[in-house]
Amino acid sequence: MEEAYGRKAVPVNIPKERPSEYYGMYVFNRSQMFRYLDRSTYNALVNAIDNKKSLGRELADNVAKGMKQWAMDNGARDYSHWFHPLTDGTAEKHDGFIEHDGKGGVIEEFSGKLLVQQEPDASSFPNGGIRNTFEARGYSAWDISSPAFIMGHTLCIPTIFISYTGESLDYKTPLLRALNAVDKAGTAVAKYFDENVNHVISYLGWEQEYFLVDKALYAARPDLVMTGRTLMGHESAKNQQLEDHYFGSIPSRVEAFMLDLEIECHKLGIPAKTRHNEVAPNQFELAPIYEETNLANDHNLLLMSLISEVANRHNFQVLLHEKPFAGVNGSGKHNNWSLGTDTGTMLFSPGKTPTDNLQFMTFLANVMAAVNHFNGLLKASISSATNEHRLGANEAPPAIISMFLGQQISDAIDRLVNSDDDTINFANKEGMKLKNVTQIPELLVDNTDRNRTSPFAFTGNRFEFRAIGSSANCASAMIALNAAVADQLNSFKAAVDEKIAAGEQKEKAIVGTIKKLFAENEAIHFDGNGYSEEWKVEAQRRGLDCESSVPKIFDAYLSEDSVAMFKRTGVFNEIELKARNEVKWEMYTKKVQIEARVLGDLAINHIIPVATRYQSLLLDNVMKINAIYGEGGSEMAEQEKETISKIARHMFIIKDVTEKMVNARKAANKIECEREKAIAYHDTVKPCLSEIRYHIDKLELMVDNEMWPLPKYRELLFIR
Ligand code: ADP
Ligand code: MG
Repeated sequence: MEEAYGRKAVPVNIPKERPSEYYGMYVFNRSQMFRYLDRSTYNALVNAIDNKKSLGRELADNVAKGMKQWAMDNGARDYSHWFHPLTDGTAEKHDGFIEHDGKGGVIEEFSGKLLVQQEPDASSFPNGGIRNTFEARGYSAWDISSPAFIMGHTLCIPTIFISYTGESLDYKTPLLRALNAVDKAGTAVAKYFDENVNHVISYLGWEQEYFLVDKALYAARPDLVMTGRTLMGHESAKNQQLEDHYFGSIPSRVEAFMLDLEIECHKLGIPAKTRHNEVAPNQFELAPIYEETNLANDHNLLLMSLISEVANRHNFQVLLHEKPFAGVNGSGKHNNWSLGTDTGTMLFSPGKTPTDNLQFMTFLANVMAAVNHFNGLLKASISSATNEHRLGANEAPPAIISMFLGQQISDAIDRLVNSDDDTINFANKEGMKLKNVTQIPELLVDNTDRNRTSPFAFTGNRFEFRAIGSSANCASAMIALNAAVADQLNSFKAAVDEKIAAGEQKEKAIVGTIKKLFAENEAIHFDGNGYSEEWKVEAQRRGLDCESSVPKIFDAYLSEDSVAMFKRTGVFNEIELKARNEVKWEMYTKKVQIEARVLGDLAINHIIPVATRYQSLLLDNVMKINAIYGEGGSEMAEQEKETISKIARHMFIIKDVTEKMVNARKAANKIECEREKAIAYHDTVKPCLSEIRYHIDKLELMVDNEMWPLPKYRELLFIR
């Protein structure tokens, strides 16, 4: 453990060139395409990408040829389809470029067929029963909207992953469908304001929080290694109470790591920009500049692999778990989300003209309606066994979705809702004049009006969905959000068109409809303290989803409303939704199951033996005191005896609850239904974990420090 302290920073290989010169060097981006493809192939590929067309066989062959050359010139030796299965993280299956040359040797080969489509034998990926083993084929197919890149020595090709029967088995497929849905629906509505709009683009800027732990210490904590979080550990005497970590100076070891990471990000075209300390000791954050949502999500997944690798070089272990340490803040991943048009308008930025502002209010009203209507679903989209530790824990958004708008927007909405139509003068010479809508822009100059307790906050030109877990695939939240908003925009358009068809003027129809939306969906709007007890009561009264048990939260995916919405938007069919929920419940069970096993082993094999040893040392001491001092010694040994019986009591409970936990597990394992099983794990196994922990943590304070078998929080949490 000695070496963990005072380790020197590992020197970083800083390129001589400026970032703009090496940025994207490992990405087959347009400038590399231009260099490596002949002109007509380049044009055809760019056309396919821009217009979401598929590649023909011949074009694919030509692209593959150039891509292979580029990859090999840059050190790649094999290639892999890179996809996002329903487990955490990403999956790869590597193949070398080599093929027989028919003369006993080999040649480097990479055909269009291999680029475009593969059949990874993927029966071991979770599929919720969609794919029985006798038809274990899954297809991975190139997503040309996301560029190929080189990671290590591998050319990675971003792909979707679907079953033989066409159902999605990944996150990317439904994400692309949801983005497509919001593009179509958003464009139709944006055209009310500008005929030239042809696409609406969803943007995502994620902020990734993480912890760093010294590797040697990490390796000595089986709970961290196997579950990603500490299952025991008494709070350090000092942790975050002095609030000295946030924006504090970064230790040099960490600084070197961050610099290295940023350089690697830039080489891979991830526009990493912001880095700083977070609230908890050893907690940090990295945020790139926002990008189109599909690409941004690929970049986040890529970052999650990259960060561990780079940390390794610096003798750190990265913890992406939502709650690695009890008693200090956990880690989230804020998803800054917005919509923009291909004509350059950001739809959540209040504009300078009344038209822009009406457009802003229109999109705002629709987001509000979508989030209100699907608040339960949005919560389900960010829920997991690991994020459960963080939500509602008075440090992170509560297990209730609400929307923060801030004083200025709230006032603007109030004015609009309470105005009568005569304050709106449409046929004015200067164009449309909306008294109550025009007042927004000057107000929004300052958006420091931040509410950190809101899970879904408007922050001036975007929404910040803050409830996402640090280890999650952002796609889950982005699928639900973009799909719900798309669906809402579609019904908005239908309502407005109906009024127009009935002879109403367009602007009047729009204003009338958004006024109704604002009024009907006020329940989701909450600018107060989301951590307070009163909010829980109030939210319940407003009819917001307040379920806090994650296995039951998942039910929201299968509600009649959700199923219909996903069907209308073409994002999921019912088979997919059912299958994916099976996977969610199964994953939930497995995570709790692993934690229960690890804690059981640690309790019985590590903690009890040590506590017993220390206890017998004390007993020995008492015996010696009595032997030497006889009657007079009994008072001297009084405190020892008390400690001995306290230790005995804690040990008894630890053993007892561990046994109870094993039995609860056995009973739960017999349940066939995945949902019921996950509920049983939540209700009967999970509570044992915290009970056992409580008593182990008490023992940690009593037992001789030298004997304690695991690194303690005060060692894990402070990098020097
Ligand atoms: P803060 O910590 O104040 O929330 P950060 O700078 O850490 O801010 O992160 C803000 C994130 O939001 C960045 O990724 C940034 O690029 C992104 N962002 C800014 N504007 C938009 C927008 N219109 N749409 C989506 N993301 C945005
Ligand atoms: Mg933020």
